[in-house]
Amino acid sequence: MTNSANLEIRNVKIVTATGISPVTDCVLKYVTGNIKILDGKIISISNEPSESENVFEGDGMLAIPGFVDPHTHIPFVGDRTKEFLMRAKGAKYSEILKDGGGIHSTVDSVRKASLDDLVVHGLKYARWFLKSGVTAIECKSGYGLDFENEIKQLEAIRRISENTPQKVVSTFLGAHAVPSMGEKAYIDELKYMLDFVKEKDLAKFVDIFCDEGAFSVEGSVKYIKYAKSKGFKVRVHADELSSNGFAGIASDLGAASVDHLAMCSKAEIKKMAQNKTMAVLLPLTSFYLKNAFAPARAMIDEGVPVALGSDFNPGSNTFYSPFLNIHLAVNYLGMTPEEAFVAHTLNAASVLGLEKECGTIEVGKRADIVIIDAPDIDYIPYMPSGELLKAVFVNGVEFFENRDNFSRKD
Ligand SMILES: [Zn+2]
Repeated sequence: MTNSANLEIRNVKIVTATGISPVTDCVLKYVTGNIKILDGKIISISNEPSESENVFEGDGMLAIPGFVDPHTHIPFVGDRTKEFLMRAKGAKYSEILKDGGGIHSTVDSVRKASLDDLVVHGLKYARWFLKSGVTAIECKSGYGLDFENEIKQLEAIRRISENTPQKVVSTFLGAHAVPSMGEKAYIDELKYMLDFVKEKDLAKFVDIFCDEGAFSVEGSVKYIKYAKSKGFKVRVHADELSSNGFAGIASDLGAASVDHLAMCSKAEIKKMAQNKTMAVLLPLTSFYLKNAFAPARAMIDEGVPVALGSDFNPGSNTFYSPFLNIHLAVNYLGMTPEEAFVAHTLNAASVLGLEKECGTIEVGKRADIVIIDAPDIDYIPYMPSGELLKAVFVNGVEFFENRDNFSRKD
């Protein structure tokens, strides 16, 4: 295993999108050659091997950009196994809430957890993601629902970011659920929290969950206008459980992305296309909850740039594999393998504002590279196994190597 930040990945078939803009037409570039890396960055891609001392022999395998996950709910502690089993037997969310489950059980666990607990658990999950080829992630607060615990989560994200080689982007989701004080009083508290988050530079994005049983459209509009006036970029959870028109409204208000969208209407898709708003689709959650999948095909055909994320969280989805996510995108959302691939690399990086650093294999970008034992991109949704993954390079350093079952050497 090579450990130096200065190395050459030799004899690989590179498959990548190009550039720094999210794409809807998905023209991928295929190049066979050698990738030279210096101090974490790609400095050349060529047919001629150089005299590098540290060489990773690719043996003709595919080299793809590290996957980017633009929507996770790391950090959290605790588990909701009991709730999962109740749901599997057909229990409704209202019954789960009555039994002490649901988001408020995670809020209780996070409030009891120390900052160190949150960091340890967050780093554990970040490492799981990295081992699956995910080299950049978004992390959110949202399980504190009061000043002390929301800020504790954001501080945990900062420490996770300092202690993992992945790129980590922080989002403030204090508006994840409405606590017992009611929406109006809580939004006033959230505004106060926003001022503090801005002052301490604890988050790049502000997010709100606007849906049945969460925040109202009216309250959400007021809140995101305030967040924007403070200089935050805004993302929203919209149209997950019901269609209330908020995805279109948030798009008109300049949201950087609208996420979930399983119940998104045609009118909203049109608005998102006009505004070029990124749609972040989370099919793993639909799969986990046995709910409807987002209308990805209609979005892409209308010109909406689509990204894929996991929505990894303790209640509604515990899957995080980009391979499985791409399988679902192709098999249930009607996306092509190329569209799903771009949605989990360049487009996902664009959602997070990382498009100049991540999401493609190009000179000048971070050397976040995944080596997979597959003949081409189509093979990923067909065989969505983590065993395809043979090496992960993050910021130019090899994190993981698995040469078992290596089939393409000859
Ligand atoms: Zn979410």
